[in-house]
Amino acid sequence: MFDVLVIGAGFSGLQAAYSAQQAGLSTVVLEARDRVGGKVWSVPLASGRGCAELGAAWINDTLQPRVWAYAQKFGMKVVKQRLEGQAVMEPGLDERFVFPFGVTPEFTEQEKKNLEHIRDHIQAESLKQGPLSGEDDNVTLDQYVRNLGALPKIIQMVNLWAQVMHGVEATEESAAWFIDYCRRNRGLLAIRADDASGGQYLRFQDGSQTIANRLADLIGTSKIHLSTPVATIDDHSSHVTVTSTKGQTFTARKVILSIPSTMYKELNISPRLPAAVQEVTNGTVLGDYNKAIVCYDRPWWRDLGFNGYFASYAGPVILARDTSVDEKRHFALTCFVNGEPGREWSKLVPHERRAAVLHQIARVFKQDRNSEAYRPIEVFDQIWQHERYSRGALAPITALGHLTRFREVYGRPVGNLHFVGTEYSPEWKGYMEGALCSGELGAEEVVRALRRRERALL
Ligand SMILES: Cc1cc2nc3c(=O)[nH]c(=O)nc-3n(C[C@H](O)[C@H](O)[C@H](O)COP(=O)(O)OP(=O)(O)OC[C@H]3O[C@@H](n4cnc5c(N)ncnc54)[C@H](O)[C@@H]3O)c2cc1C
Repeated sequence: MFDVLVIGAGFSGLQAAYSAQQAGLSTVVLEARDRVGGKVWSVPLASGRGCAELGAAWINDTLQPRVWAYAQKFGMKVVKQRLEGQAVMEPGLDERFVFPFGVTPEFTEQEKKNLEHIRDHIQAESLKQGPLSGEDDNVTLDQYVRNLGALPKIIQMVNLWAQVMHGVEATEESAAWFIDYCRRNRGLLAIRADDASGGQYLRFQDGSQTIANRLADLIGTSKIHLSTPVATIDDHSSHVTVTSTKGQTFTARKVILSIPSTMYKELNISPRLPAAVQEVTNGTVLGDYNKAIVCYDRPWWRDLGFNGYFASYAGPVILARDTSVDEKRHFALTCFVNGEPGREWSKLVPHERRAAVLHQIARVFKQDRNSEAYRPIEVFDQIWQHERYSRGALAPITALGHLTRFREVYGRPVGNLHFVGTEYSPEWKGYMEGALCSGELGAEEVVRALRRRERALL
């Protein structure tokens, strides 16, 4: 019998297993996929010029200590997000502003003031401490900013934040959930920033999945069972039996479940989770959070004075950034196709998806059919909703009112079952850093619980 069995080898599960091992506990990890990393997935380019980050990419060296410590430990080279040049904002299909990056787009004076008012209000809310308001949890983010007097273009900007940050529309998450997300992640401005003050500052030259692979080596790959999807968890009070879809059984004193809470209902858990835990976790949703990564032989947009960043209300791409690694001659635009536009785009067949993205890139940068915009050397598209073992991204979003109503049970242990995942992290929720933080805390929770049990038996 193992001390701890961890379900899932994403960042939170791997960290939980590693921390538990470091505390002297015997550990085993069961992972459904044939790889570790979960929503961190770095795929080699056919061109040999590095890799495409189909999942997580950006980190920050000063604000995210856990991920940065691994980057250093594993000698990982980073590249700074390139900001030099003009950005583009596309408020509609036939409207386009080119503006210096980092500056409010060329809205009217009234719209600029209105945007600053809404942004500053949410920033102030996101720097406050203390409990969230139940009232704000029962109102959508969209309604919340309308109540603050947001003008139509600013309502669309807030919607873009919800799409970019969570893969949903502002009508699909509560204002309190949005504010809580900002609170855990150092405020709205830090989440949105692409420089040293924010979440999109650095990327890994050789892929963020290296951290997962190296962590797996530290844990011991023989202790990680890949291609082993868990089907059943039976908590017998003195121990837990876990059975895979292939019928293999494992026994442990404690189980750490690291899959997104939206997917708990797919497991056969006995005894059944308490009604309140079922209600809150059955109610969470995962966003439509998709990437189209378009790789070119050269960064042609830079010659035109652009830095590759564009945001669009017209879609299907809602936001794009230059994700090149110049040192490797890897030149790419990473396009996020999220929220409702992403939902529609993901119904298209692959060549239609690719065409939609290329047409938009050409439209945004005013390029014609014969331009380099239409001649990528490689294109990746990754739809996380289609992934059997993810079912969307970034992190599960609680239903209206649930975050405050179920605060006492959401993420709390039940019997011998402990829950980790980026969604539960007190810091950098939704990020790799948050997953590591939650894994660390989950392992500490298990260590404490096992010590208490041992003391009780003495
Ligand atoms: C497109 C995209 C872009 C992102 N960008 C960034 C970014 O720039 N920076 C950043 O920090 N973060 C980013 N993230 C978020 C980051 O990837 C996640 O926050 C983090 O990886 C979540 O880790 P986790 O361990 O909580 O969950 P997961 O990675 O989802 O891990 C859960 C694991 O459980 C496994 N599993 C599921 N079901 C079962 C089962 N039945 N049995 C066994 N195993 C199972 C899964 O296969 C998976 O390995 C991005 C994510 C996506 C998708």
